Amino acid sequence: MNSTVVWGRRCAAALMAIMALLLVGFPADRACVAGDPETPGDGEQKPGDAEKPKDEEKPKDAIKVTWHGHACFTIEAPDGTKIVTDPFGASVGYRLPDLQADIVLVTHDHADHNSASTVRGEPVLLKGKEGIGKRSIKGINIVGVDSLHYDKDADKERGYNTIYSFEIAGVRFCHLGDLGRKLTTKQKSEIGKADVLMIPVGGKVTLDSAAVESMISLFSPRIVLPMHYKTKVMKDEDWPLTTLDDFLKGKKPDLVIRKESNTAEVSKSTLPKRQEIWVLEYEEKRPK
Ligand SMILES: [Zn+2]
Repeated sequence: MNSTVVWGRRCAAALMAIMALLLVGFPADRACVAGDPETPGDGEQKPGDAEKPKDEEKPKDAIKVTWHGHACFTIEAPDGTKIVTDPFGASVGYRLPDLQADIVLVTHDHADHNSASTVRGEPVLLKGKEGIGKRSIKGINIVGVDSLHYDKDADKERGYNTIYSFEIAGVRFCHLGDLGRKLTTKQKSEIGKADVLMIPVGGKVTLDSAAVESMISLFSPRIVLPMHYKTKVMKDEDWPLTTLDDFLKGKKPDLVIRKESNTAEVSKSTLPKRQEIWVLEYEEKRPK
């Protein structure tokens, strides 16, 4: 064989190797998994992207969930309809978010949950006892179920709490508000199932830790969103709540997903197979 033929064959072999690498992706890229903070964001292409299974692509029915702190979330449907839950007042310690919504759900009339006037967009407001019952607003079916903010009668002055459940794009959400007493079978059946459970875990004025675990077992949601716990923006003397770390003690680390963001996307097709606890960040109050 003359040297020109050998050289040509070597070039062809090298070219084939490069093409094979491009097709299967580089080994380092295979280490990226869904939810990994190293995973590239929208619009960024990396070698190997073309080979990812279809279910890892951003689903068209994605629902955006944003935690603003305490019990306040914005849940945005794929068509842009927004639900805000339990907007808090300035006294809580979090920076007041710029909220805009079509529907505001207030579980009870306490200052850390009832600041509906801060929400822009002339939303439909369901508040406390008025929120009890079934209704459809802007195409979203919402159920409000009466419950108690207290467990022992000595704490009766805390009053009542309305739990809301609603379904968006095939995903059922339930916001327990400041639930203080474990639910009865009747209340649970009125609420229905929950794929995503927003549950107060800070205790003291809401469910204690054993009752929190019992409610998580009762609903058996795919995603647990802890809320209403002590964070460093809250003053010790005003907020005798337990912390997120207290709630996470003893939980399997691989089932605790720290989003490192105040938003996350949920969709029916990408709900986790095993129950996960999703920890969202809040936006800290800016120093004065
Ligand atoms: Zn509260």
